[in-house]
Amino acid sequence: MAAVAQLNTAVNASLRKAILAAADSRRVQSLVRRHGMRLGAARFVAGESLDECIAVLRRLNEQGFHANTTLLGEGVLEPGATEQVVAAYEQVIDRIAAEGLRANVALKLTHLGLEIDEELAFANMSRLLRRGSFIRIDMEQSQFVDATLRIYLRLREEGLDNVGTVLQAYLYRTPEDLESLLPLAPNLRLVKGAYLESPEIAYPRKADVDEAYARLAETMLAGSGHVALATHDESLIDRAIRFADEHGVPRERFELQMLYGVRPQLQLALARRGYKVLVATPYGPEWYPYLMRRLGERPANLLFFLKNTLRG
Ligand SMILES: Cc1cc2nc3c(=O)[nH]c(=O)nc-3n(C[C@H](O)[C@H](O)[C@H](O)COP(=O)(O)OP(=O)(O)OC[C@H]3O[C@@H](n4cnc5c(N)ncnc54)[C@H](O)[C@@H]3O)c2cc1C
Repeated sequence: MAAVAQLNTAVNASLRKAILAAADSRRVQSLVRRHGMRLGAARFVAGESLDECIAVLRRLNEQGFHANTTLLGEGVLEPGATEQVVAAYEQVIDRIAAEGLRANVALKLTHLGLEIDEELAFANMSRLLRRGSFIRIDMEQSQFVDATLRIYLRLREEGLDNVGTVLQAYLYRTPEDLESLLPLAPNLRLVKGAYLESPEIAYPRKADVDEAYARLAETMLAGSGHVALATHDESLIDRAIRFADEHGVPRERFELQMLYGVRPQLQLALARRGYKVLVATPYGPEWYPYLMRRLGERPANLLFFLKNTLRG
């Protein structure tokens, strides 16, 4: 049994690498972009337009969930294009407020120009935060972690407290990053980490990532600030909830976050038990890299895609 489980893990790890590597291939990209929405991307993405997304956010609220949304996109290299992204996010923020939805925004700094100029990403971010709604900065590939944390700290120093960010359990550096952030009572989302990173900087073995996640979750819950535990891993969620119960951490201090389309029954079960569950619900025409990361996390999703392709 243990040998079968080990084999399964090894096959999944190789498939994950293959999917994340294939994601960069132009041929794969053009094929998936052309047919992907029809074939099943809609399971993970709330449509290509803001109107479609708002309808999904409303439905999630009606089911008892909180939600966030992201206009999909990353790695913008044209300063003019970031202006359009910021304008689009202003529209999203205003629309969420106008519709009275229990939803906020999570975004990527490379979408706001981080690869062009850190100052530009900072300025774009502070402009959005000045609208008053909470915004979380996602964490991207390891080369962006320092700049992302620098920008987060600068925003907080300017008194913009309606901002949160993300730490990735697979990175060896994360316990130190967490320690330096805790005095600020930060609003942090903890994830395992979605990118292909080198074993020099990130745990290559899933068991080590899971253990790191559990320890970081406990440090966050024992510390100050708001904790967003973003994972579909039921045993890690149970372990964190048990820790919170045993240490008298009030339920208002943490929330559980999962992705739209992933483990919906678990999302519902946790919400019914009275936990705050936020469903991360992205939208937009640039859904390709997001979809490939979701397929990489669970190669079985690829079967779901292939079945739809065959059906036709
Ligand atoms: C709300 C949210 C925000 C995130 N933000 C970031 C971020 O800013 N930066 C970043 O690097 N990563 C982010 N991630 C992704 C994260 O790093 C992981 O890649 C992802 O959550 C999969 O890991 P897991 O914790 O669910 O655990 P896993 O061990 O991968 O999965 C646990 C179980 O959940 C199910 N499952 C997991 N993923 C899928 C899937 N895609 N489809 C179907 N079933 C699945 C499977 O049954 C699996 O057995 C985010 C994840 C969530 C939920």
